[in-house]
Amino acid sequence: MAAERALGELEGGEALLFPSGAGATTALVLALLEPGATIAIAEGAYYGTSVLFRALERWGLRFVEYDQRGPAPDGVDLVWVEAPSNPFLTMPDLAAAATHPAPLVVDATAATPVHLRPLEHGADFVLHSATKYLAGHHDALLGAVVCRAAEDADRLRELRGATGIVAAADAAWLLLRGLKTLEVRVRRQSESAAELAARLERHPGVERVRYPGFSGLLSFDVDGGADAARRVETSTRLIRNATSLGGVESVLETRARWEGDRVPDNLVRLSVGLEDVEALWADLDAALGA
Ligand code: PLP
Repeated sequence: MAAERALGELEGGEALLFPSGAGATTALVLALLEPGATIAIAEGAYYGTSVLFRALERWGLRFVEYDQRGPAPDGVDLVWVEAPSNPFLTMPDLAAAATHPAPLVVDATAATPVHLRPLEHGADFVLHSATKYLAGHHDALLGAVVCRAAEDADRLRELRGATGIVAAADAAWLLLRGLKTLEVRVRRQSESAAELAARLERHPGVERVRYPGFSGLLSFDVDGGADAARRVETSTRLIRNATSLGGVESVLETRARWEGDRVPDNLVRLSVGLEDVEALWADLDAALGA
């Protein structure tokens, strides 16, 4: 279909769409692995991915977490990294991951092909929650896998057909429309995020900022603990207190409400949209002082 062709061209591989990022992850794991296989997944990667892998343990899947800034452990059957990880914003050592004998999956949801084309760095598969930057408007639920090898794409397509983990046509159309503005959106979001990250670094109400130097996604720890962070997320007016990311409107939230003690209880994740950066800063600054 047209949206798959357009995404495949952007990534330099063969793209297949799925009804969500989680659906794409499920299909990829079922297509590639046998019961008893072990995945090495980046620690601090998107929370829902390890929740999904845990759900598949009943079917014989195993997974171990590792620090993606170094090499993946020996003896695993699949390496799964996130570039950058959500919400810790670490970048994987792609060169080390690519030399591992197991196939390499790079979840590049937060980087997008504007900043990173993982197949050029030795990845075998790129995974996207296309719900986020690729579609870009908080109005489509969609996932994608881009394969380096045509045989892998065939295998995945066959499993997709057999299991019915199939994307809806209207969501694919929204993706196709979103891709037309992907580059301008992501460049502007990254520019604004870099500016906000630099200002947050200097803000006395902020303990720590995580930002990889590109992308519209960042996270910061609010001085004063969970209550102070909760106040910040409920005090912004322009920036909505909502869960998703990668859309044209800025959203923020404390992640502990979903992830529990896996994240600091004062960690706030901010997805920067297309609003004026000075208006965004005024909103954040006021919320931090509230
Ligand atoms: N991968 C990453 C990095 C994500 O942030 C998400 C969702 O937040 C997913 C995968 C799952 O995508 P979806 O929400 O489309 O199922």
